[in-house]
Amino acid sequence: MHRKIGVMGGTFDPIHHGHLVAASEVADRFALDEVIFVPTGQPWQKSSRVVSAAEDRYLMTVVATASNPRFSVSRVDVDRHGPTYTADTLADLHAAMPDDQLFFITGADALQQILSWRKVDELFRYAHFVGVTRPGYELGDEHLPDGSVTLVEVPALSISSSDCRERVTSGRPVWYLVPDGVVQYISKRSLYVDPEP
Ligand code: ATP
Ligand code: MG
Repeated sequence: MHRKIGVMGGTFDPIHHGHLVAASEVADRFALDEVIFVPTGQPWQKSSRVVSAAEDRYLMTVVATASNPRFSVSRVDVDRHGPTYTADTLADLHAAMPDDQLFFITGADALQQILSWRKVDELFRYAHFVGVTRPGYELGDEHLPDGSVTLVEVPALSISSSDCRERVTSGRPVWYLVPDGVVQYISKRSLYVDPEP
């Protein structure tokens, strides 16, 4: 069966409504059958800061997406040893569903950096890229291979995981920035209370 599958990679520390709106909007625009959220293992670009345990980030992603019948969560990156490279993510997903067409969804900030990603020559082999607008960043595909990327405007939500973490650390609210279940999960596991756990 040839399905159209969105792939939303991220650290999701924590997942927030900016991620969910981007995925929902691209799913509608491209008539995707499903969007798979893929939390990273240990992200190589963020080795300078402490990232929450992969299992916590995976579970928050499950909690945030559980109510949407077209959203699911993959453990491919969480379960792979070593740092996460998107080229490996896409190769693994392609191997698991070789007949399906993959669309990798990425925000304007990540799209600007794509050429600095590892294994860049393999990146575009298994997926079409969809770059989405994000407040504070310029969306462009000048430096990327012809035809490899489509740019999509999504409702602007000025939310970042960094800001959500800082809010929790300083005792300010994250209600309505992240799904209710994620607010409760953060509290239950005391995530982000101490900035350097
Ligand atoms: P951090 O502040 O820790 O970097 P983040 O909010 O950027 O977190 P990531 O997990 O790094 O979240 O992002 C995963 C993907 O979602 C990236 O492609 C990123 O560009 C995109 N993204 C994140 N927030 C938004 C947003 N508010 N609007 C559109 N895209 C977003
Ligand atoms: Mg980010």
